[in-house]
Formats: sequence, structure tokens, C-alpha cells
Amino acid sequence: MKLLITGGAGFIGSHLSEELINNGHQVIALDNLSTGRLENVSQLEGNSRFELVVDTVLNENLVDKLVEKNDVIFHLAAAVGVELIVKKPLESLTTNIKGSEMILEMAHRYHKKVLITSTSEIYGKNTNGPLKEDDDRILGSPLKSRWSYSTAKAVDEMLAYVYWKQKNVPAVIVRLFNTVGPRQTGAYGMVLPRFIEQALKNKAITVYGTGKQSRCFVHVKDVVKALIRLIDEPKAVGEVFNIGSQEEISIEKLAREIIKITKSSSKIKYIPYEKAYEEGFEDMQRRIPDISKINKLIGFKPTYTLAEIIKDIVSYVKKQ
Ligand code: UDP
Repeated sequence: MKLLITGGAGFIGSHLSEELINNGHQVIALDNLSTGRLENVSQLEGNSRFELVVDTVLNENLVDKLVEKNDVIFHLAAAVGVELIVKKPLESLTTNIKGSEMILEMAHRYHKKVLITSTSEIYGKNTNGPLKEDDDRILGSPLKSRWSYSTAKAVDEMLAYVYWKQKNVPAVIVRLFNTVGPRQTGAYGMVLPRFIEQALKNKAITVYGTGKQSRCFVHVKDVVKALIRLIDEPKAVGEVFNIGSQEEISIEKLAREIIKITKSSSKIKYIPYEKAYEEGFEDMQRRIPDISKINKLIGFKPTYTLAEIIKDIVSYVKKQ
């Protein structure tokens, strides 16, 4: 098949491109290299089944042509990373909302199947453990960047859903929970690459808040395999799926684990949220996905433990 991946040079997009090419498909990656990087796809350079188009998902004429000539669209292009969206709220809103609308409109024009990537940020401050796809969203003020991002991604979901309901665009929606692995950068706030880099340099590990907040981390390789299986599954159309791990760890404990695995002499440094992000910043204390829906449909289960994920990233960073 011919596949278009928006954000194809990003962290997740580059792993998806690689996996699809290994499966014998033809991939065009559209990426404006704002957070995506050429190095992410350098191993695919020269491969006749891969093409990188450096441009924005907001370029209507280009997106029109690319959607027309591909069979399926994976829409991953987005402004992501809590620090990035707090620093650049306008870009985050326009890329996320207008970009998705453009892709869905073109998918409608040319009758193409599309997978829209959303986020666990959708659930906001709902700390009920395992979050199910139809659970309530609990959000703070839309004037706080984090919640405006959550809302922008919710608009993406709504657009995908109504394009399916009203215009028959075969759309699949996924909510990704803390996806990590080689090539992820800490530059936009993501905790795991940051802690690993700090530990390898024996620098202070920057734990925000009390460190008692917890997350579940899933390996990007497990995620991209799930995305490919979902796009192949007719029953996934018009549905939303959580994708993530259920191995929960507090951020403080994560810092300790990383220090142990890397045999680092780093110490933990606690930084208040308002210093790390902005005045009035609100974090979520817990975020665990209920993955029974995707498990039932395609048998999804993460294959990497957290310790294996950390070791994999450590060996990748050391090689760089
Ligand atoms: N975090 C931290 N130190 C950092 C970066 C992040 O303690 O240098 C915390 C952050 O406040 C949050 C958790 O780690 O509680 C996960 O952050 P990340 O941005 O990776 O993901 P998200 O908040 O979207 O789950």
C-alpha cells in the first residue's frame, strides 16, 4: 500500500515509517521539521520506498496532492510536549485543529482511510484509575495552555468522528498514553529522555512537584504495531482506542530507577511546577489507560517492561 504519514519524521512517525517500510509498503512522510528531525529518518534515506516531503500540513495544495496519491493517511503531525504547548499555545492550537481539519477534508474529497492520533491529555484531571474511552473529561480553564491543548485534541477527535458519521470518512481515533523510546527528545518536556540524559551526565534529576504523580510508559515499537493493526481492522472505523501501558510508576520512583539502571551519581532535585512550567500550572496526579477495548479487538498488550524500555533508551543514547 501507499501510505502518507504526517509528522513522519517525528519520534513516533519515524518508527511508524520504518515499520511500514519493513512490511513492504511505500511511505511518504510529510514533516515541517519543527519538532521532527532529519536524523530520525536518516536510516531510510535512499530507500526507494520512502520519501520525505519537508512542508507543513497546513499547505492545502500540497496536502490535496499527497492525500490523492496515497491509500491511507496516518495523521501524526501535531504540536506536542507539555513544555512546548505552554510556550507556544497559538502554534499548538492552529497546527492541531487546522491540520486535522485539512487532513479529514482531503480524506473526504478522495475517499481515503485516515487514522487520527489523539492523546491521554483528553482526560484532563480525571484521576480515576484505568481510564476508559468513554470516561468523563475533567478540565481546568481553557485559558491555561495545557487545557487548551487538551481541547484542541478533543476537537480533532470530534472532527474525525463527525466526518465519519456525517460524511462516511473511514476514520480511526487513537489516544496515546506516554509513549517513549529511542529518538524521543527531552527538548519539549518529556520526562524519560530528560531523566536518562541527566543521569548519564551525572547531573541533578529534575523532578517537578512532589514526584508522587504517576504515569505508565509504553514503548513506541508496541505503539506503531498497534496503529498498523488498527488501520487494517474494519471494526476499528468510527471508534476511539486508548493505547498505553498499565505499569504505573511515580515520577520520583522513576528517577530512582533510572539512577540505579545507569549507575549514576545524580541526585534528585525537586522543582515546583510554577518554576518548571508557568504560574498556576496544573498537573495530573495519575494517568492509567484501560486497554481492554483495543485488547479485545486486536489483542494489543505491551511487550516491553519499564526496565526494558529504560535500558533500550540508555543504550540508544550512549550510541549517539
Ligand atoms: N516531569 C518531571 N521532570 C521533567 C519533565 C517532566 O518531573 O524534567 C514530570 C511532569 O511534570 C509530569 C511527568 O513528569 O508529571 C510526565 O511528564 P511528561 O511531560 O513526560 O508527560 P505528561 O505530563 O504529558 O504525562
